[in-house]
Amino acid sequence: MDACPAPVREPTDRCPGVLRLHEAADGRLARVRLPGGRISARGLLAIAEVAALGNGIVELTSRASLQLRGLPAGCDSRCSALLAAGGLLPSAAHDRVRNILASPVAGRHPRSLCHTDEVVAALDRALCADPRLAALPGHFLFAVDDGTGLADARRADVALVAEGPGAPASFRLWLAGLPTTLRATAPNAPRRALEAARAFLLLRTEPGACWRLADVEHGPARLARGLGGELRPVSNCERYPLTTRQRQRDGATAITVLPALGRLDRDALVGLASLVGEVRLSTQRTVTVVDVPAGDVAALTVRLAALGVVTTAGSGWRGLSACAGLGACANARVDVRAAAAARARVRGADAPVEHWSACERRCGQPAGAAVSVVATADGLRVETSGDAASDHAPHAARDAASDHAPHAARDAAGDGAPRAAGVGAPVGRPPADPAWPPAVADVDAALALLEAGS
Ligand code: SF4
Repeated sequence: MDACPAPVREPTDRCPGVLRLHEAADGRLARVRLPGGRISARGLLAIAEVAALGNGIVELTSRASLQLRGLPAGCDSRCSALLAAGGLLPSAAHDRVRNILASPVAGRHPRSLCHTDEVVAALDRALCADPRLAALPGHFLFAVDDGTGLADARRADVALVAEGPGAPASFRLWLAGLPTTLRATAPNAPRRALEAARAFLLLRTEPGACWRLADVEHGPARLARGLGGELRPVSNCERYPLTTRQRQRDGATAITVLPALGRLDRDALVGLASLVGEVRLSTQRTVTVVDVPAGDVAALTVRLAALGVVTTAGSGWRGLSACAGLGACANARVDVRAAAAARARVRGADAPVEHWSACERRCGQPAGAAVSVVATADGLRVETSGDAASDHAPHAARDAASDHAPHAARDAAGDGAPRAAGVGAPVGRPPADPAWPPAVADVDAALALLEAGS
């Protein structure tokens, strides 16, 4: 097979996990993979216990994982023992490769085509049972979509996307966001996905250069052919909305809440564990409780709100994010979290997706961010646009608050990133003219500029 293109990635996969912690400015950082975004009450309590060892900050990531910040040096084995006791480390060898996205309601949405919990669980079990697959990069991503688009399957290297009509539903294999001609029934779908993952390992002949399938030259097409299929023209992949109180197909309700800026503290974790047996995290950094009987919805919503999470649709926190910022990252120039809190008080719930970065790395900037505020050496740049760096831009800016922290500071979006509206620069990549848009002096000036433009 052809070799990968010239190395552009760091030679070592430094993606953190439960057993390999990352040294951040605010201490050590552990990342806990949650296939399908699911975590039990027991797991939440284990996370809370580990959080108490550090600064108490727990972040939801854009891959529906959790990461613990501010852990002290020398706590690694205590951390991993607590997390293992909470059922969060089923395979030490596979800790960093259990990256499996799914819809948080997993087949319960009225528009879903099939349930996916068992497919996700079977995929996770089979992944952990194969020692070869422990060699996958920590960035490599699987997804299992129930037909609603809520699993963000286009972001995944290998995705199983439910398709209809017909019963039982079948899953189409997608590779790096591209559909293939390959399909499988639910019982066979995990095997199909893992065949693709093994083929990726053979394809990337320079492991240090290729963390994702899209990094391999013609990777998706070559992999599809290797499995006996072809790529298909990209089809419209609809994403249906998930409401805060989503009525399920079976008449029960799924309640979805939003921790402000994707953070939960120890008390909120313990509180959640006392209320429900399991929660499901999403790529939107939300927390969902499924299968709530109609008569329990109001009371449970009140109890969730008491934990400090956003339970209503009309909140300025929706669509608002910020990087780790001051106190958590040595590169931070301003307190973007305080700035975001000020924005949340004045933004409408339907305001465009907005991200604040405390330096040019733009960690955690979501794909599709329409407004971006970046602290530079010259001041704060306020950019607006209709789109941003795609998760599949091979070298997209990545995140200290997402699953790509140690590999932050990548090139941003490729060609086609739209031009800014109003203030001049494309969100997600350096401007062609570094003097435009002009930076404003401080956070207050940036806030005023945004408010004037809203
Ligand atoms: S954008 Fe990333 S590197 Fe820069 S300050 Fe924020 S967290 Fe740190």
